[in-house]
Amino acid sequence: MNQQIDIRVSPKVAASLEDAVEGKMNIIRLCSENSGIPISDLKDARILKRSLDARSKKAVYNLRLEFSTSEKLEDYEPYYRHSDVSSAEEAHIIGAGPAGLFCALELIAQGLKPVVFERGKKVKERRRDLAKLNKEQIVDPDSNYCFGEGGAGTYSDGKLYTRSKKRGEVDLILQTLVQFGAKKEIMVDAHPHIGTNKLPALIENMREFIIACGGEVHFESRLSDLEVRGNKIHRIQIKGNEWIKSNQLILATGHSARDIFYLLHQNAIQIEAKPFALGVRVEHPQELINQIQYGKHYSEYLPPASYRLVKQVEQKGVYSFCMCPGGIIAACATAPAEIVTNGWSPSRRNNPFANSGMVVEINERDWKRYQPKGPLAALMFQSEIEKKAYDSANAKKEIGQIAPAQRLTDFVNNSSSGSLANCSYFPGIEEQDLNEILPAVVSNSLREAFKFFGKKMKGYFTEEANVVGVESRTSSPIKIPRDQQLLNHLQIENLYPSGEGAGYAGGIVSAAMDGVKVAKAIKAKISS
Ligand SMILES: Cc1cc2nc3c(=O)[nH]c(=O)nc-3n(C[C@H](O)[C@H](O)[C@H](O)COP(=O)(O)OP(=O)(O)OC[C@H]3O[C@@H](n4cnc5c(N)ncnc54)[C@H](O)[C@@H]3O)c2cc1C
Repeated sequence: MNQQIDIRVSPKVAASLEDAVEGKMNIIRLCSENSGIPISDLKDARILKRSLDARSKKAVYNLRLEFSTSEKLEDYEPYYRHSDVSSAEEAHIIGAGPAGLFCALELIAQGLKPVVFERGKKVKERRRDLAKLNKEQIVDPDSNYCFGEGGAGTYSDGKLYTRSKKRGEVDLILQTLVQFGAKKEIMVDAHPHIGTNKLPALIENMREFIIACGGEVHFESRLSDLEVRGNKIHRIQIKGNEWIKSNQLILATGHSARDIFYLLHQNAIQIEAKPFALGVRVEHPQELINQIQYGKHYSEYLPPASYRLVKQVEQKGVYSFCMCPGGIIAACATAPAEIVTNGWSPSRRNNPFANSGMVVEINERDWKRYQPKGPLAALMFQSEIEKKAYDSANAKKEIGQIAPAQRLTDFVNNSSSGSLANCSYFPGIEEQDLNEILPAVVSNSLREAFKFFGKKMKGYFTEEANVVGVESRTSSPIKIPRDQQLLNHLQIENLYPSGEGAGYAGGIVSAAMDGVKVAKAIKAKISS
């Protein structure tokens, strides 16, 4: 019979449960000690849920353990199984990010053939372009931190938490990531993450599965044009020359595919400007964040500390975004003359820096100047700030990815110390006044919020930290409207906007969930 118990253990005991050799036996021993059942009667045991509670003086792990006295516990069954769809009806997917890839997997499960077109390269080849970006400061507009196999999430921290309360749907995504190579721990952790070094192999496995089932994945195959007839997409153009007839088109191109937003607008396909968030990436020494968060109880058994901060400054919400403990600030521009930051971490989160986006909500009052541009107004406002960031630190250069930066204290005090703290951003940083680059409403709100965060986390407001600009791609500045039930575009009945770029997701898990949802909607439509 299976039973569950909830217990609290020290970080040292929690670490002993992960030991490759002794871990399982340690879990069984804990179950026996806490249930009173002799160890010899326990056939199997595992961790079902694990969360770190570091609010009190001494951090503890809350564990939910499951054990059986009769048989081995059943393993998670893979949801996506092999099936031959090579001659089934085709659906075209643009973009091989989480939304596109999970849409492809679900289409296979629904008996349809996915044909994926991705503008970037295979995940391994993509790595060379990232090295070029970091070392030579050359941005390839088709292969960068946002574009290429696996999408924007491939070279990320791989944080897998979502605000979604749809537990079954979230579990399906996590279980599938485990099926393709993620560690099983992501199924139990309250705040799971995979890490940049582990994600590429997982994405490759997913691609191989799609192809083995008879699906197709085409790289360096950018959607360059489309032809609309009546209320339907008739044909799509790939790579600027090849026209293909399309019956079902899933647009999962992410929040950085500006050419796609322009293409839709030019073809009179409705899009809408949408609020997003804008700010900076702030970076501290990880050791300092550990001390602030764990105090004197910090030990080797605790993970590098993270934080989550939020403050309302007058009408504006200011919040931390995509905090990466033990991480690196990434150069996320998708075109040469712009600077965009984000962050990533390896699976062990063992870099000496802790970085986080710190952003301010932006709405139509802020992009008023661009109002005549209609649905492209928010995008143009976003683009203007990225360009300003570029011009400030890369003036008179043909290429450059130097990011404007300031010590946190200088930014808040509106001063210049003429120096910067050490920083993880590979292409390099240069001292510039970020108050001049960011719109006043953003810099004023950030300054107030940083003062408040400094009081909340003693030591956070320090000259040892830098703010690096600009954090502008937190979410899409455009929404592509779709029918709430059928999920197709409001005007175009065989066009399915999906994922973050279309405004239906914010992160890896929610984008993947949306891809699955769209695949099911297409199947329902075809079957009706
Ligand atoms: C550095 C970084 C770190 C991040 N860290 C995290 C994290 O830890 N956790 C988290 O949940 N989220 C994170 N995110 C956000 C996350 O990556 C996105 O929310 C998610 O990838 C969105 O998925 P998507 O499939 O909607 O779009 P994307 O992942 O953006 O994928 C879109 C794909 O479409 C392709 N494409 C674009 N235009 C075309 C075209 N014209 N033709 C063909 N293909 C095209 C792109 O190349 C890309 O592969 C991070 C993002 C970045 C950049």
